[in-house]
Amino acid sequence: MEEHRKIILNQETEEDQVYSLSLRPQMLGDFVGQRDVVDNLKIAIQAAKLRQEPLEHVLFSGPPGLGKTSLANIVANEMGSRITVTSGPAIDRAGDLIGILTNLEKGDILFIDEIHRLSKMVEEFLYPAMESFKIDFIVDKGPYAKTINFNLKPFTLIGATTRSGLLASPLRDRFGIFHHLDFYTHDDLASIVGRSAEKLNMIIDSEAALELARRSRGTPRIANRLLRRVRDYAQVKKESDNICARVVEESMRTLGIDACGLDDADRRLLNVIKENYKGGPVGIETLAATLNEEVDTLVDVIEPYLLKIGFLNRTPRGRELTESSRRHIRMPATGKGQNQLF
Ligand code: ADP
Repeated sequence: MEEHRKIILNQETEEDQVYSLSLRPQMLGDFVGQRDVVDNLKIAIQAAKLRQEPLEHVLFSGPPGLGKTSLANIVANEMGSRITVTSGPAIDRAGDLIGILTNLEKGDILFIDEIHRLSKMVEEFLYPAMESFKIDFIVDKGPYAKTINFNLKPFTLIGATTRSGLLASPLRDRFGIFHHLDFYTHDDLASIVGRSAEKLNMIIDSEAALELARRSRGTPRIANRLLRRVRDYAQVKKESDNICARVVEESMRTLGIDACGLDDADRRLLNVIKENYKGGPVGIETLAATLNEEVDTLVDVIEPYLLKIGFLNRTPRGRELTESSRRHIRMPATGKGQNQLF
């Protein structure tokens, strides 16, 4: 069960990492959807290039799998810059950050994923580094202690976070460009599926691509992952090379993914609220304890899409089911969904 859930949850798996190298868009022109974000970035990049200056610091927020890392790499490609990639939890000590910062060349990009998970101490080193490309650090202790000022080369910090609300405001305020990524429409996801299928040497008809898009929780990473599962299914079942909607539906049934794209973990959450808490409201901590799940997993990974499609309400007293989710969990897992949002 645990293994199964790990695979279908919206978290990056090792397999995703391998495929993301080939499926990840490389330039802004390859990046599907998020028009406003792309248009604004295009202007900011062009302007920075005209001025021959590094781009201002950029913050991307939004649920996992929507393209934050892809955009950071795209910005580096478009600027013709080197990119150093790290993450909040990977920078344990201020010394780690100093090491990274002092190695940056003019115009380099530093990408910090999960930036909301930086420790307070490390974060405070970032402030002067971001603002005036300087760091001050203290060497030695007691009477021998002295402060060393170090000038950095002008660089661009790109931060990504699933929860911009957790960022301290002094940090948030130091980003000149801030974009929130929202879930993708079915049409955008179908076009991502079409492009990925081409790269994987698959042929998928447009109806099948749309069917897959509907089941991808508004998330490109999930769309790509489901596409690979459909490919496995078609190969094992010796279906023709041309993937049709029926094959998509059958393979989704074997994975337990319903017509709205909900998986076992989503349905379990909805069912627990229904059965154990009479439909809610129930506090998130209580819910996490009952599901034997981390609060962060519920808040970052499972909940955002359920809130987006109106299957969950967040009230001051906790989470509660809605009319649509009550209707949905009465239906068998393979039934046609009633989610007409996109
Ligand atoms: P995040 O950093 O937000 O978790 P990623 O940038 O790692 O998300 O995206 C996950 C995968 O989804 C990428 O490897 C890429 O293949 C695909 N992807 C994300 N956004 C897009 C997009 N707009 N167009 C095409 N593919 C995308």
